[in-house]
Amino acid sequence: MLKILPDPSDPPLDELLEIAGEATEPPAVPQGGIPRQWIPGWIRWPLRIIILPFILLDLAAQKFARLLIRPPFKQEGKCLKRGNCCHYILIPRPNGVFGWLFYLWSTQVLGFYPRSSRIYESEGKKVLVMGCRYLQGDGSCRHYRLRPTVCRKWPVIEYFGYPRILKGCGFKAVLRDQPKV
Ligand code: SF4
Repeated sequence: MLKILPDPSDPPLDELLEIAGEATEPPAVPQGGIPRQWIPGWIRWPLRIIILPFILLDLAAQKFARLLIRPPFKQEGKCLKRGNCCHYILIPRPNGVFGWLFYLWSTQVLGFYPRSSRIYESEGKKVLVMGCRYLQGDGSCRHYRLRPTVCRKWPVIEYFGYPRILKGCGFKAVLRDQPKV
């Protein structure tokens, strides 16, 4: 099984996200290139097509819940299609059987790959920073229609906590009940 060792040479997460916000092109691929997926395409792609209706249902249910109970922030603006939010994807550090299954799913089926071996901390959770093999040089997604949940949910505006939006993104979060001036 893949062993992930801390690498103190990588920049801290805040700095990494700052870099992602301002970058004009995707970050370099890891030394040795993007790791190959060992699950063949004829298994990966049907799996992704089968799972798609469940992803869409889940997102629709979440949208409906937001209509019933409004989060304190609302999203405004539009996507500028820079692709910078695809530079560094955070996923939980694999831990336990389900953690490793999720890691395998993320890498072998969804196509993410670790950008470094460093383990970061985000909102109290240990995370890995991943890259995506489907991000193209012009910032577009090679498989946009089949993109995973994490890509569809960005930017993240939760019920609790401050919204997560990458700097330079066309979206912004505004307080829903701002007093009119
Ligand atoms: S699957 Fe597409 S939208 Fe998601 S991170 Fe990769 S390039 Fe970006």
